[in-house]
Amino acid sequence: MSEALVLEGIEKGYNRGKPSEVIVLRGATLSVARGEVVALVAPSGAGKSTLLHIAGLLDVADTGRVVHAGREMAGLSDRARTEARRSDVGFIYQFHHLLPEFSALENVVLPQLANGVAKRDAVARGMDLLARVGVAARADHRPAALSGGEQQRVAFCRALANGPKLLLADEPTGNLDPGTSETVFAALMELVRETGLSALIATHNMELAARMDRIVRLEGGRVV
Ligand code: ADP
Repeated sequence: MSEALVLEGIEKGYNRGKPSEVIVLRGATLSVARGEVVALVAPSGAGKSTLLHIAGLLDVADTGRVVHAGREMAGLSDRARTEARRSDVGFIYQFHHLLPEFSALENVVLPQLANGVAKRDAVARGMDLLARVGVAARADHRPAALSGGEQQRVAFCRALANGPKLLLADEPTGNLDPGTSETVFAALMELVRETGLSALIATHNMELAARMDRIVRLEGGRVV
């Protein structure tokens, strides 16, 4: 099985059957091969977040198939979905969403402890990840003491803490100034390449998109 992610015929609407109904996705189909980094480009409001949430099992499509590494996700119990989400997927948002009362290192360690990893191993992996993106010296700092770029680097480490096979990112550098965005994006790509991750990264920055393996566009609720 060479596809890390397959989305097929995804339809999704909000407030179905009400006057406020919005149909966001109208049969979106795309796949991400193993080790491939795909840019998902679309204007704001086109449904990028909705598609990423469905791919990452944070939301459910009205119809369509979601397949992770050959494994059909439809029809799984809630519990099996939660497990699949935890083990298969790393998620990065535009805003870091780190826990403010914990240090950078603790933010990367906690998800591993929740996944049953021994503390010593979790700390070693956490430090290794932080070092790879150049923030090891800030390991003991809380998020508020870090710059926006450092916060986002820590968020990358947290997303990768449990060794997911698929990375889903929603405008991961959208909150940063252009210079910081550039270096933080470079750090993310390096980490993704080193770990052989497959990734679907939403952005409306065409310069960043051009550095990924392939660009897909979301238009009128479909991938074109
Ligand atoms: P993007 O990430 O491309 O900006 P989104 O997936 O966030 O787009 O949103 C797509 C459309 O769906 C927007 O018009 C948005 O207003 C609408 N939408 C998103 N979530 C909801 C919701 N929970 N209820 C109603 N409409 C929603």
